[in-house]
Amino acid sequence: MEHGRSKKIYEEAKKYIPGGVNSPVRAFKSVGLDPVFIESGKGSRVLDADGNSYIDFVCSWGPLILGHSPEYIYDGIEEIIRKGTSFGLPTETEVKMARLICEALPGMDMVRMVNSGTEATMSALRLARAYTGRDKIIKFEGCYHGHCDSLLVKAGSGALTLGVPTTPGVPQDVIKDTIVCRYNDTSSVEAAFSENAGGIAAVIVEPVAGNMGVVPPREGFLESLREITKRHGAILIFDEVITGFRLSYGSAQGLFKVEPDITCLGKIIGGGLPVGAYGGKREIMSMVSPLGSVYQAGTLSGNPLAMHMGMKTLEYLRDNPQVYGSIEDNAVRLEAGLNAIIDELSIDACVTRAKGMVCLFLGKGPMESHDDVIRCDTARYASYFREMLERGVIIPPAQFEGWFLSYAHTREDIEYAIKASRESLEIAFADIIKYRP
Ligand SMILES: *Cc1c(COP(=O)(O)O)cnc(C)c1O
Repeated sequence: MEHGRSKKIYEEAKKYIPGGVNSPVRAFKSVGLDPVFIESGKGSRVLDADGNSYIDFVCSWGPLILGHSPEYIYDGIEEIIRKGTSFGLPTETEVKMARLICEALPGMDMVRMVNSGTEATMSALRLARAYTGRDKIIKFEGCYHGHCDSLLVKAGSGALTLGVPTTPGVPQDVIKDTIVCRYNDTSSVEAAFSENAGGIAAVIVEPVAGNMGVVPPREGFLESLREITKRHGAILIFDEVITGFRLSYGSAQGLFKVEPDITCLGKIIGGGLPVGAYGGKREIMSMVSPLGSVYQAGTLSGNPLAMHMGMKTLEYLRDNPQVYGSIEDNAVRLEAGLNAIIDELSIDACVTRAKGMVCLFLGKGPMESHDDVIRCDTARYASYFREMLERGVIIPPAQFEGWFLSYAHTREDIEYAIKASRESLEIAFADIIKYRP
């Protein structure tokens, strides 16, 4: 496969953009390759700058649940653009969008649009702190909520109970109120609440963890978070930036029947444009400015073009519920195909799945927390990725990311990805397989 033009663009990119990319994972660093630069996308496929075509399982990391550039969403878009792309004054589309979201999610009475998932979680925390009059928050190791300072924290090592920043530039002072618990471990949450009685404003969680690969919640985990937060007068925040409108039209809260107090959204609700949102119970959302005193604003928030694309996407999902069944069928097929390969090659690997969310971990399961997933073999994953790319399939360029399936992926795409995985995993594990008696 020829990558000459991608390489040339990358050289130029590195001169002007840190690392040549505008979000780190795109640099393909953890799979030891130079990035491919994308020219266009259609359906389940993307075309790179050298004209190579790939089946794409990144799908913009979640927004493209209907695949790349679907005609039925793009219909009428030129007209919308010509009407003007931003006013800084309210438009009716924002109202339609807000109503769509509130009608879909059980825990959502009112919603405020922002421009990214990061903004959504950052604003949700401010609101939860204002509402409870408390400062401390609980997050889970391995859950990602965007790059807001107070959430870039991991658990301290050993006996250290204080969290540590995951990046330079975050002062210890900013994260001193962030407590890190273990995903799927209710007792770690109970312990945090008893150690910080009356001080915890909120628990923020990905209802299905999608940023350490895919780690579904254990039966009863979300229910116990609901019960514990209620008992302690704390706010439960579901970060549904990935799961929102992906697990089901009612999102994770509709699927698991657990209602959070505040929900964060992003990705799918922008239909491929930069959007985020946070919302929840009326009593809480009534504190947001200008109705209430908690300040939060945005020059491009509720942008007419982004609202239009998001609205078209949500309307399509609402009116075509078969989308979810179809994606799940393909996810089940992919899961079964990969499991058959793992059995046949007898390698340490496992597949996790929640509805249409799938991940192949190159490590022994079960995968229930960050401690489990970090035992995976990232070097073998890098080799697996490179072989897949060579065969025209883009899987996530990092072990700790889920595969994103879309409605545009066909059964043939899935069969091909399984076949390519069979060959690629055999190469990635060649040393083990070769020396087996
Ligand atoms: C992607 C993501 C975010 C951050 O959203 P951005 O739009 O990238 O800022 C937050 N939470 C979760 C669960 C995400 O997957």
